[in-house]
Amino acid sequence: MKLADYYRDGRRGLSFELFPPKTEAGLQSLYEHVDRLMAFKPDYFTCTYGAGGSTQGLTLDVLSEVRRRTELPVASHLTCVGATADEIRTYLQEASQRGTDFIVALRGDPPKGETTFQAVAGGLRYANELVELIRTQPHPFGIAVAGYPEVHQEALDADSDLSNLKRKVDAGADIVITQLFYDNADFYRFRERCEQNGITVPIVPGLLPITNLAQAQRITSMCKAKLPPQLVQRLSEKEAPDWQFEIGVQHAREQLLDLLKNDAAGMHLYVLNKSQAAEKMLEGCQLGSTA
Ligand code: FAD
Repeated sequence: MKLADYYRDGRRGLSFELFPPKTEAGLQSLYEHVDRLMAFKPDYFTCTYGAGGSTQGLTLDVLSEVRRRTELPVASHLTCVGATADEIRTYLQEASQRGTDFIVALRGDPPKGETTFQAVAGGLRYANELVELIRTQPHPFGIAVAGYPEVHQEALDADSDLSNLKRKVDAGADIVITQLFYDNADFYRFRERCEQNGITVPIVPGLLPITNLAQAQRITSMCKAKLPPQLVQRLSEKEAPDWQFEIGVQHAREQLLDLLKNDAAGMHLYVLNKSQAAEKMLEGCQLGSTA
């Protein structure tokens, strides 16, 4: 099935995003949670690439094992960070040989300690160039690109950020997966502006349920997403981990139900290698191959 088809003809695609853990125990735990997430009949899993300084090497290992266990399609995230175009071609060849179906094509963040993104000599500057490169390869990967309901932090303004997104889609992206957000109004505005600008591919909202306020503050400060003050206030009422989990997941479930009511194309969940929050959020929802 083609990537965009998971979001068409009444289907509402469901995908879960994982990251490569640093330890063997983390890896075992990840696979156990993947097995539990299968109860929600997802359409595919994705795995990040070098995000937050994590290793790039493990992405395909994680995905190969997830594919073997679940028999579902898998998507490798891929960035332009520190790589020449030739190295990216080599990665794509390996990804194709190891059964990767889709690529989440990204520019990537500047490496730790650097404030601006610098392409290496012979490398790529923006994600649209990566999409173009992928489309020159023999393997017909499905391609997702990133979209920003609250505007990317380095963009000059919302209009130029949207022009960039259009460039990525025109280069051959099949779907857009959004950065996490906690106020659905930001998503609806973004989706409307995409439509007005002729971006017609499915726009898939990405949600990260908060299970711990400090962690959410760290993540949102890195990607410059807003945490609504009322939500922070509610989460801060008690320090107990159970409380923060309860409130954070309740908020994410309310977001999810509202998005489904408002015709969201599907759902991408940043599950952070754990299933518990997704289990609470998704209970009774019609998504993935149950939709
Ligand atoms: P681009 O689309 O290239 O945009 C980068 C910036 O440049 C934007 O501000 C854009 O407006 C601007 N721009 C683009 N083209 C031009 C142009 N021609 N002229 C001037 N300005 C331009 N990071 C990781 O390291 N690993 C991951 O696995 C990962 N997974 C992600 C998954 C999702 C769903 C999302 C939303 C983000 C993910 N990220 C990941 C983070 C991502 O790498 C960062 O947000 C990064 O800063 C931008 O990547 P991009 O692909 O959106 O870049």
